[in-house]
Amino acid sequence: MGIELAVRPYQREFLTPLHTAHGLWRWREGLLVRLRNSLGRVGYGEVAPIPWFGRETVKDALAFCQAQGGEWRAETVPSTLPATQFGLECALAHLEIENSLVGMEPAIPSDGFANADLCGLLPAGNSALETARAQLAQGYRTLKWKMGVHPIADEIRWLWQLVKDCPRHTQLRLDANGGLNIGQAEQWLRACDDINASSAGAAIEYLEQPLPPVQVESMTALGRRYQTAIALDESVATLAQLEDCWNRGWRGVMVVKPAIAGSPQRLQTFCQTHHPRLVFSSAFETGIGRRAAIALARRCSPTPAPALGFGTLGYFADDWDTLTAADLWDRL
Ligand SMILES: [Mg+2]
Repeated sequence: MGIELAVRPYQREFLTPLHTAHGLWRWREGLLVRLRNSLGRVGYGEVAPIPWFGRETVKDALAFCQAQGGEWRAETVPSTLPATQFGLECALAHLEIENSLVGMEPAIPSDGFANADLCGLLPAGNSALETARAQLAQGYRTLKWKMGVHPIADEIRWLWQLVKDCPRHTQLRLDANGGLNIGQAEQWLRACDDINASSAGAAIEYLEQPLPPVQVESMTALGRRYQTAIALDESVATLAQLEDCWNRGWRGVMVVKPAIAGSPQRLQTFCQTHHPRLVFSSAFETGIGRRAAIALARRCSPTPAPALGFGTLGYFADDWDTLTAADLWDRL
């Protein structure tokens, strides 16, 4: 008998809807997959595409999984379904580990991170100032702020205040989600250069995805004219896009969300071959996807690793983050 494949869709509600450049995000939808072999051992995986980060939808992923007829036939998952590649490959890897560790503790490692190793998230607008105080008190040293939402003059003023409120070792990441035009991006980069040249508290680690995803060449040109680093995120949503940007000469920071990037094995091989400057980040997965993504980040990050973009616990109106994979599966 082969390996049984089961799939369960989930929906979970954000405690507070997230403001994104694409409107409010209220519900996180995805799939959990479970592989079970003839010995009854199981491996879990998660398929969690983000609608505006590519063309893959939960519906596509579900259709692919259901078309397998309840059995994992080790078919190649098409490259148009990178989140499905991630979920099924992780489930298979988990199953292989479980199979080799009969009678031992569960093989998926816990997070095992202090907040100092993680990047905390700040909401858009000036409420970031208050949230930053709370997060710094919890031990975060790297914070990410969503900008490009309010008038630019207001946001730059708030940024200066934020910088002054933070202790000196703090790193700030500014995320525009591709929402700026070139003039605005230059205004931000000038402000960031001024901040980094000043003796104010925090430093700007990078400006993330200032321009729309296709404008990589323009971002490369901006990167040459300003001191502040630029990171790509939406431009490198999948491993194929990341490889393409690399092949076209991008050597700056790239943000990787393993859950939507594609095959973990291929990503690991790419990292071992090229040593790109990657910052790993959450896609607001459940614990199943999160643990697999963090394990991959550990295998692929340079030393010392930049703060992991996984300061995303506590964002949902449920207790799922406290559950084991098996308990979460049983809930659905
Ligand atoms: Mg981003």
